[in-house]
Amino acid sequence: MTYAPTREDLTERIRLNHDSLSYRNGELFIEKLAVEDIAAEVSTPFYCYSASTIRNAFTLLADKLKPVHASVCFAVKANSNISILKLLADLGCGMDIVSGGELERALAAGVAPSKIVFSGVGKTRREIRRALEVGIHQLNVESPAELDSIREVARDLGCRAPVVFRVNPDVDAHTHAKISTGKKGDKFGINIELIEELYAKAAACTELDVAGLAVHIGSQLLNLSPYRAAYRRLASLVDQLRSRDLPVRSLDLGGGLGINYNFGVGPDVGEYAAIVKETVGGLHCELTVEPGRWLVGPAGLLVTEVLNLKEAGGTVLVIVDAAMNDLMRPALYNAVHPVLPLQDPGHRSAHPYQIVGPVCESSDVFGTYDALPPLQSGVRIAFGCAGAYGASMASTYNSRDLIAEVLVEADRFRVIRRRQTIQDLLELESATPWQKCRSETNATTAL
Ligand SMILES: *Cc1c(COP(=O)(O)O)cnc(C)c1O
Repeated sequence: MTYAPTREDLTERIRLNHDSLSYRNGELFIEKLAVEDIAAEVSTPFYCYSASTIRNAFTLLADKLKPVHASVCFAVKANSNISILKLLADLGCGMDIVSGGELERALAAGVAPSKIVFSGVGKTRREIRRALEVGIHQLNVESPAELDSIREVARDLGCRAPVVFRVNPDVDAHTHAKISTGKKGDKFGINIELIEELYAKAAACTELDVAGLAVHIGSQLLNLSPYRAAYRRLASLVDQLRSRDLPVRSLDLGGGLGINYNFGVGPDVGEYAAIVKETVGGLHCELTVEPGRWLVGPAGLLVTEVLNLKEAGGTVLVIVDAAMNDLMRPALYNAVHPVLPLQDPGHRSAHPYQIVGPVCESSDVFGTYDALPPLQSGVRIAFGCAGAYGASMASTYNSRDLIAEVLVEADRFRVIRRRQTIQDLLELESATPWQKCRSETNATTAL
């Protein structure tokens, strides 16, 4: 796992492709702030996001999709910080959620329930109830059994549940196996062959308002042709349903747009919009897309400090204070994030470095990097493209506290999540008195 562009190359790519990262006199800036200056105020490791990068990404995507009248719902799981949600919501962005917790986050960020769609393969009745009570825009149904639950909850509440069916189109997204979701046999969506009957049955239920269909074929798609294949299948399914006089007014096209983790050029969203237009643009449906990573990934840094160097079998290991619990992607998907030194003195280390975290797992490795400046204890570096599936996936494994998140806007920054303290963590574990589940006599009778 070697990552080897020269620093000059990486710096040049940042200059060409990134709105708000730059090197000035060898110092890394995010917007108008030196990252080192933020690190002097916020203890490492921490996440650091650029507000303008997120805004620019949203504006670009929304503009490209305007001709096809597609609205954008941000996939909250990519970065669920309330300030990030608010920033996007203020631009008119809706939200795509996958849990009751994400629903509360979106509501806390001030997002109107009419702009929230609820995806996810296993919704509890409690989550369904809450979503219907607040007046959610739609529930994306992932199985016939889930449809039954939604129906029952809606009947209880005396309301009509707005639903769309998530179709599994059996399309290979050509992405990492752990983020592929649209192949037959994946746990996501409903087999495309079963949709017609289910749709007809649901359309006849007074508790359900059947609005249309959804797909989401996977994440980190760099090649756009799987979208064309999936959307074509969706379009022919719409024709099939309409030929039975079943109305289809809404299509949710999912997320998955990939980013270039080397700060190079990523997939062309103009081309993506053209695919949407070509495949489903003429169906007169309300269209929604649900990008997560693409909107926030490039905007984030994970800033960390070198603790120690040591040698192991001829490899120089750099142990940093960030770890797999802070950024899971390398351990989970073999992902490699680019390394940006906060200070770049210009000269290069003669040998590669393997950068590792302190967690007691062999998979706690960020990667092996060539062409970095000489590193030593106390030097700070940042992992780039860490705005998506970074903080939102973090855990407290090894009893490491959840790290701070910082938002930068022009020449100012703000802590948008304070670092968790170990006291916060320990408090959850103060034991309650012993209790019994049912009385012994009852238990005996039951036998
Ligand atoms: C995760 C997810 C997304 C967002 O995926 P990205 O690759 O981050 O764009 C969109 N829709 C659904 C249903 C998801 O589960």
